[in-house]
Amino acid sequence: MFRNALSRSSRAVASRSSINAARTFSATRYRRSEDVPKLASLDVFTEEEEMIRETVRRFAAEVVQPKVREMDEKEQMDPSIIQGLFEQGLMGIETSAEYGGSESSFTAAIIAIEELAKVDPSVSVMCDVHNTLVNTVLRTYGTEEQKAKWLPLLSSEKLGSFCLSEPASGSDAFALQTKAQKDGDDYILNGTKMWITNSYEADIFLIFANIDPSKGYKGITCFIATKDMGIEIAKKEQKLGIRASSTCTLNFDGVRIPKANIIGGEGKGYKIAIEILNEGRIGIAAQMLGLAQGAFNLSVPYTYTRTQFGQPVGHFQGMGFQFAEAATEIEAARLLTYNAARRKDNGLPFVKEAAMAKWYSSQVAQSVSGQAIEWMGGLGFTRETGVEKFWRDSKIGAIYEGTSNIQLQTIARFIQKEYTP
Ligand SMILES: Cc1cc2nc3c(=O)[nH]c(=O)nc-3n(C[C@H](O)[C@H](O)[C@H](O)COP(=O)(O)OP(=O)(O)OC[C@H]3O[C@@H](n4cnc5c(N)ncnc54)[C@H](O)[C@@H]3O)c2cc1C
Repeated sequence: MFRNALSRSSRAVASRSSINAARTFSATRYRRSEDVPKLASLDVFTEEEEMIRETVRRFAAEVVQPKVREMDEKEQMDPSIIQGLFEQGLMGIETSAEYGGSESSFTAAIIAIEELAKVDPSVSVMCDVHNTLVNTVLRTYGTEEQKAKWLPLLSSEKLGSFCLSEPASGSDAFALQTKAQKDGDDYILNGTKMWITNSYEADIFLIFANIDPSKGYKGITCFIATKDMGIEIAKKEQKLGIRASSTCTLNFDGVRIPKANIIGGEGKGYKIAIEILNEGRIGIAAQMLGLAQGAFNLSVPYTYTRTQFGQPVGHFQGMGFQFAEAATEIEAARLLTYNAARRKDNGLPFVKEAAMAKWYSSQVAQSVSGQAIEWMGGLGFTRETGVEKFWRDSKIGAIYEGTSNIQLQTIARFIQKEYTP
């Protein structure tokens, strides 16, 4: 576990470098030029973040990689992978040690999501939703009692789901119809959620429901519930990509939830959902970034071994120029993603940057994984190499946690605000 691997002294160094990094990225004005710190490039990390990358890289290669194809074909996550994510300390990355977490940065979570996606975007999104949505809601809006009760479970053994979308409310999330009616000290939930990631394997669910539809979105409230309260998995979707990641329809038919399970207060659900999805988008950007890099890593070496017309196909200028363009696009996606993550870690505004990172990384993931199939020729089109899977998996980046149009809408609003005379 990387949290155990850190000695006291390396933690001190890591925390010193975090402080230095924070200084580097803060928007402070300096009086003298010699006071200006040397700016680190965006891919300079703390010792702890580097350690996480190394841990995840090893876990992905040794534990995930051998199971990727079988999980995709069976459309099922292997339970040993979920267990492994918990054992590696990857399911409570930002959660404090007091609650059994690894107490690391948001950027560390982004690194873990990216590294997992290089090998399997399904495993990556499982880790992403659990950390950047479920854990973050509890860490940010939970009471001390709620944190003490739920965060240790989420760090050590219980998988979480984030239940917002419904059959009639996707992009327009606050049109949700699920209702929660007060009954003594409890609320009774009735409704349906759709396309809920992790829900087949999850035990803990954050559910958004309206306690007073007459108030519109101001009635939306976030509840925490467990599967045994009566949450029904009505349907497990069969999908184009990320097939090992479960996506289910959930029914709530009179599910009784104690009032004490409301997170952030009555009517605060819309605020929670907006704020959490703003940062969650950086997670999807990281997933798409990792995916693009994974497809590149898999396909380019092959072109230097495949000979046609008496030379490796990768040596043809037409191929080399395509690699150069793709590598530059991946680098640009990486910098957008890391920049949004660092801004978030340093308390700077990041919503526009997160939308840009998600939109662009999703585009790059689709284009690079599509080209990677062509670079491998006929072999790339077969299931043998796994490169076609990256392309299937890439489509989801432009859909969940806000479609590409919704990201563009967010960016356009910032532009309008900034440029309206
Ligand atoms: C695999 C998978 C996993 C998911 N996981 C989760 C999860 O864990 N939790 C959860 O709550 N939800 C989840 N979702 C739901 C996901 O967030 C929604 O699918 C997404 O927000 C889009 O909503 P929709 O499918 O209803 O599309 P719609 O909102 O119906 O959009 C259809 C099209 O219209 C466009 N459009 C809509 N509004 C506008 C607009 N204002 N301007 C321009 N274009 C617009 C969209 O861009 C899109 O192209 C998941 C979905 C999938 C497929």
